Order: sequence, then C-alpha cells, then structure tokens
Amino acid sequence: MVLGWFRRRRRRRYLAESVPVDWVEHVAAQPFTAGLTDEEVQALVGLARGFEDQVRFEGCAGFEINELVVRSISLQACRMILGLGLEAYRKVRTVLVYPSSFIAETERGEVHASGLAVPDGPVLFAWDHVARGAANARDGRNVVYHEFAHKLDMLDGYVDGIPAVASPAQFRDWKRIVSVGHRKLRRAARRGRSTLIDAYGATSEAEFFAEASEVFFECPKALRSKHRTLYRAMCRFYRQHPARTAR
Ligand SMILES: [Zn+2]
Repeated sequence: MVLGWFRRRRRRRYLAESVPVDWVEHVAAQPFTAGLTDEEVQALVGLARGFEDQVRFEGCAGFEINELVVRSISLQACRMILGLGLEAYRKVRTVLVYPSSFIAETERGEVHASGLAVPDGPVLFAWDHVARGAANARDGRNVVYHEFAHKLDMLDGYVDGIPAVASPAQFRDWKRIVSVGHRKLRRAARRGRSTLIDAYGATSEAEFFAEASEVFFECPKALRSKHRTLYRAMCRFYRQHPARTAR
C-alpha cells in the first residue's frame, strides 16, 4: 500500500518533469503505464506523438473525436511498438471511431464488431470497448492491442498469425508455434474449457495471434508460465519482456 503510494508519487513527479504538459494527464489516466519504467514512458510518449502526426482520426455515426480519444488510442497502440519503433505502423494512416459496436462486413458476413483492422486500410474501433479495455490493464482483454496486432501481422502482406520476422528460420518457428497454439486452443474451446487466451483465438491463426498479443501485454506472467514457447517468441518479435516489470 505504502510502496504503491510512493511509486505513484514518484511517477507523478517524473511525468511532470519529463513529459510535455498536455500529455501528463493522458499518460497517468492509462493504468498500463504503471507497469512501464520511466524510460519506457518517455519513449512511449515520443512514439505516440509521432503516431498522432501520421494518423488521421475520424469520428463515425455521430461520434466526436477529442484529445482523450486520440491520446488513449495512440498510447495503447504505441505501447506495442516500444521495441519496434513507429516504422512498424507505416501502413496505418486512418483510425475510425464509433461510439459503440458497429456493423462490419467480414468474410463471415455482417457482424457486430468492437474493432476491425482492414488490410491496407483503416483501423476501426467502438469507443466504449476501447475505454473498457484501457480501464483494466490486467484482464487480458484490450481491443486496441487486438486490432493493432492484426496490423503488425498484415505488414508482410499476409493475415496468417505470423508477424513479419527477419529470417526463414524465425518464420518456421512462428508457423509451428502459432499452428500448435491455435490447434490446442480450438480443442479446448470445443470442450468448453476456460482458457487464458480467449476462445475467439480459436477462429483462425490470425485471431490466435491477436488474442495472444492481448494476453502478452496484459497478463505476461501467466502467459510465460502457461505458454513459455509462445511467450518467448513474442518477446523476440515485440522486443519487449513485459513479465519482467509486471506486478
Ligand atoms: Zn481479430
């Protein structure tokens, strides 16, 4: 309790000294930033400022974009690329935000969606789901991480659950890890067992990667203990080790 209070006070002072004044409250409002080091927070704000310069935010169905909306999405999205750099989002140009879930055209027909990443197109969000995902940084559910994981997966031109990796050996490793993980999750979902990675990840290998990414950032210690090989591959891809700093 007391330690937590000291940590929060130290972080507040750090933010006041190191982060542009109009970012301080937005960083403090994101619970996930409590799990980052001071250096990571500074890098995060730098990335999010670049992201804001590069990406156009547009409100849909009467939703009005404001600073809170832009900064919340930018900070969460950029948390994922702390080790990769803004280059990883070079194909992200537009974010569309609806007030709540919206009808999306997918290969499975029309669905009610909380988020959608369109290949070579925009990323769409339902704001109420974004806010809910941000409010709890440890439940393994975050629509911003989910959709931006799809964007990272798409970077090599394929939506296959295998992100853009540097070598054929790494590609083969990922292919095996994603296919085994997806198959196990599908079996567990069929048997109605509760799983750390959400059962929606059983839909396809691409959804497996997106769901696993949510857990990687929000429940890294649990992922490391239950899916060690997947956790290690994600650390290598994202160039982050969230379990080290997670409380
Ligand atoms: Zn998805």
